[in-house]
Amino acid sequence: MATDVSAYTKPLPPITKLNAPFWEGTKKGELRLQTCNECGHQWYPPSTHCPNCLSRDYAWKAVSGRGKVWSWVVFHQRYFKAFEDELPYNVTLVELDEGVMMMSTLRGIDDKDVHCDLQVKVEFEDATDEQSVPYFVPA
Ligand SMILES: [Zn+2]
Repeated sequence: MATDVSAYTKPLPPITKLNAPFWEGTKKGELRLQTCNECGHQWYPPSTHCPNCLSRDYAWKAVSGRGKVWSWVVFHQRYFKAFEDELPYNVTLVELDEGVMMMSTLRGIDDKDVHCDLQVKVEFEDATDEQSVPYFVPA
């Protein structure tokens, strides 16, 4: 979803050598995960080793961007000033079809209608010229 990138005021994680391929993917509308070349395991957030077999031999691969709600909470209280205008908002743990958990938010649905196993798909909000932030919508 195209937005005015200069209007994005929420905090963003710094781009590092480790996570740069993830952010390059988001700018292309791809959700990418590290995939172990030794055992095939996929994981998030980025790390230097496969958490399954400790190999450092991995590649970044685009995944389906589809999954289901595993759990969620709704924030009614301001914990972060940058998110104040969105109160109340949900923080949702999505289990991707690849089995990887990703913390995100769910849009396009009333918080009261969110439920476990709700099928969702990823979309992206342009934040800066280098980063688009993934979020999920009902599939
Ligand atoms: Zn591995």
